[in-house]
Amino acid sequence: ANTLRKRKIAVLGSRSVGKSSLVIQFIENHFVDAYYPTIESTFSKGVAYRGIEYDCDIIDTAGQDEYSILNSKHAIGIHGYVLVYSVTSRRSFDMIKIVYDKIVDFCGKNDIPCVIVGAKTDLQSSRQVPPNEGEELAKLNNAAWVETSAKNNVNVGKVFELCLAEIEKRSPSSKTD
Ligand code: GDP
Repeated sequence: ANTLRKRKIAVLGSRSVGKSSLVIQFIENHFVDAYYPTIESTFSKGVAYRGIEYDCDIIDTAGQDEYSILNSKHAIGIHGYVLVYSVTSRRSFDMIKIVYDKIVDFCGKNDIPCVIVGAKTDLQSSRQVPPNEGEELAKLNNAAWVETSAKNNVNVGKVFELCLAEIEKRSPSSKTD
């Protein structure tokens, strides 16, 4: 079938956890060392998952604190969420919990298609959040979890594959939609 399956994915998290680097690595296959994400940008990419091609809009958000990270426009028309913390920042991990609860509030349901991402794993010596804590948080919220390095291109594609999987789990696309 040549039907177009559009999926909107919002990437959220504290400032400088590596959201833009992750998205740029995924879309353009390179690592940007200094990227200045002062504005929100949307990128489009075709992603194949289980033999089906999805037309993904990936929204790289630019919120800075718990008040601006999630605004109502990120709760409307979004199919799935990628919540990014840096494994080098305990504070950014704590922020994920706040943002997750805000999404649940906004959406008015408990089961949100969501991937929790621990970024910058190449910075092992500065790690503040051990893998098991990320994994536990994800389990608690029925979300997927993965650790990434945009710098070394580790698990970057996996993030968006997992996100599509979480979306499909809850609302399987029929052959015709
Ligand atoms: P954003 O504000 O969340 O979009 O964060 P950026 O993508 O702009 O990244 C913030 C800083 O962290 C930049 O200097 C990036 O080069 C750096 N960074 C992002 N991802 C990685 C990574 O995987 N490894 C390392 N070592 N640095 C990273």
